[in-house]
Parts: sequence; C-alpha cells; structure tokens
Amino acid sequence: MGTRIGFVGLGNMGGPMASNLVAAGHQVTGFDLSDDALKALEAVGGARAGSIPEVAKDADVIVTMLPAGRHVREIYLGDDGILANVKQGTLLIDSSTIDVETARLVSAAAVEKGMLMVDAPVSGGVGGAAAGTLTFMVGGADEAFAKADPFLQVMGKTIVHAGGAGTGQAAKICNNMLLGISMIGVCEAFALAHKLGLEDQKLYDISSKSSGQCWSLTSYCPVPDILPTSPANNDYKPGFAAAMMLKDLKLSQEAAQASNASTPLGAQAAALYSLFCQQGKGDEDFSAIIRFLEGV
Ligand code: NAD
Repeated sequence: MGTRIGFVGLGNMGGPMASNLVAAGHQVTGFDLSDDALKALEAVGGARAGSIPEVAKDADVIVTMLPAGRHVREIYLGDDGILANVKQGTLLIDSSTIDVETARLVSAAAVEKGMLMVDAPVSGGVGGAAAGTLTFMVGGADEAFAKADPFLQVMGKTIVHAGGAGTGQAAKICNNMLLGISMIGVCEAFALAHKLGLEDQKLYDISSKSSGQCWSLTSYCPVPDILPTSPANNDYKPGFAAAMMLKDLKLSQEAAQASNASTPLGAQAAALYSLFCQQGKGDEDFSAIIRFLEGV
C-alpha cells in the first residue's frame, strides 16, 4: 500500500522527488500553486489536492520543497497551514533551502504540537532529483531522522544526519559558501594565468596535482575544453545557476551576522555574485563568473 505522503511545492525539484516517491509505491497527494505542476504529478500516478489542509489532514508524512523561508513559515505556521491541520505524530520533512532561523522556528513549533520534523535540504540539482541521487543534509532529533531516512533514501543516495534542528540548513549554506569562494578563487587563477601567458591546460595539469587542487577546479573546471562535463563547454548553461548561488551566499551572510561569525570572503563572494546577477547573468552557470572577472 505504501505510506500516505503529502507533498507541497512540486517545482523543478519537488516534481521529480514526488514522482520517485510514487514510483516507490507510496500514495502521494500534492499541492502547488501551479496547475501544470499538479498535472505532472497526476501524470505519474499521484493525486492532486486543492489546498494545504486537504494535503495535511490524511498524511502520515509531509514533504515540502518551497522557494524560500517566507513560504515555509506561511505554509507551516499559517492559519490554513500544515501545523493547524495535520494529525498528531505526522512526520514533517522540509527540503527547501532556507535560513537556519526559520528552520529552527518551524521545527520548534512542530515539536511543540507533537510532530516529528527534520530540515533536509539537498544538493544534486534537478538531475539528482530526477535520478533519485540527491544528497540530503538532515537536521533534527534522532527519532525524527530515523523515521525520515527510508523516505529520503527513495529520493537520494547520500543521507547525512548533521545534528539537531537547523543543522541541515547550516551544512548546506556552509558548503555552498565554501563552493562560491573556491569557484571565484579558481576563476581568478585562470584569469591571472591568461594575463601571464600560461595555458589553461598547463595550469590545470599542475594545480590539479598541487596544493591548489579543489572540486571547483577538478570536477567543475570554469574554462572550456578541460573537463567534458563542465558547463564552460556549453556556453555556461547551468548546471547550478548564479542566481541560486547568490541565494545561498546571502543565506550564509545572514547566518554569519546573526551568529557573529567572521566570513569576509563569503561576504566578498556574495557581493561579486550580486553584481554578476545584476548584469542579467543570474541564469548563467555560477562558473561563468570568470567572464565577469575578465570583463568579457
Ligand atoms: P521552483 O520554483 O521550481 O519550485 C517551487 C514550487 O513551489 C513552485 O512550483 C511553486 O509554484 C511552489 N509554491 C510556491 N509557493 C507556494 C505555495 N504557497 N503553495 C504551494 N506551492 C507553492 O524551485 P526549485 O528549483 O524546485 O527549488 C525548490 C527549493 O530547492 C529551493 O529552496 C531551492 O533553493 C532548493 N534547491 C534547488 C536546486 C535546483 O537545482 N533547482 C538545488 C538544490 C536546492
């Protein structure tokens, strides 16, 4: 029979994630503001609901995959929201990428009402969502994690329990802040090499075996004709869009301010991606920041 799962937010990520839950034999009822998203769920064997209360009332598990923290607050805490309409003991999984503060606030409200909740943001993008190979970074109590794990296994390949409530979001923004900084660093190295007459392939061959080695260089090289899978080979079509990197960098800087952490390079990375996106480049892959640095 499978488990009765409610799914709210059936967009680029949520749509294929819900589809994988259906394929695993679960009864998935979805809600989204977009009629096309609901039709896509019906086409793979899920059911549509007309409202959040309709999703919430019969579900044993609810997954949400929403754009930002304000949507998560509204959908969990609002009068017509999840917490006001859900059964006691329902497991709540929020996979949206949002601020740590909202994740902790919503989780505390859920626990107070007798629910189990995890924040479980993902990496792996739309391709990983479709293939069921996402990485989930999970924050929440041991019992909530243990209950969520089998459902996350359906949608992902690597599931890591990061700690208590909010630590899934913390892991996501720490990792992506590091990624934004390292990508800019690799781009600056290539930009300098271009000015100094050092060939891309030579810099790659040397740095990939030296102390400058990192994922942004050896898995996602931002210059063309080095790695076959780099967006650089495909005119910087994403991949991982610069606008999404900017979103995560802003979340990292909000969290740094709120927790009094010093992240000066994270702040610089946020400023550079903000300028890049303001030039209308938000839809380009985040590695295209090399073109901005070189004034192309
Ligand atoms: P998306 O915009 O494609 O999907 C969001 C969906 O939420 C949309 O279908 C929208 O209609 C729906 N929605 C918004 N408000 C709603 C409401 N009040 N009620 C019901 N539905 C509502 O976004 P996405 O790319 O699927 O991303 C979702 C989350 O996953 C974001 O937090 C994003 O940062 C994160 N994320 C995305 C990627 C990626 O590659 N796309 C990768 C990792 C993490």
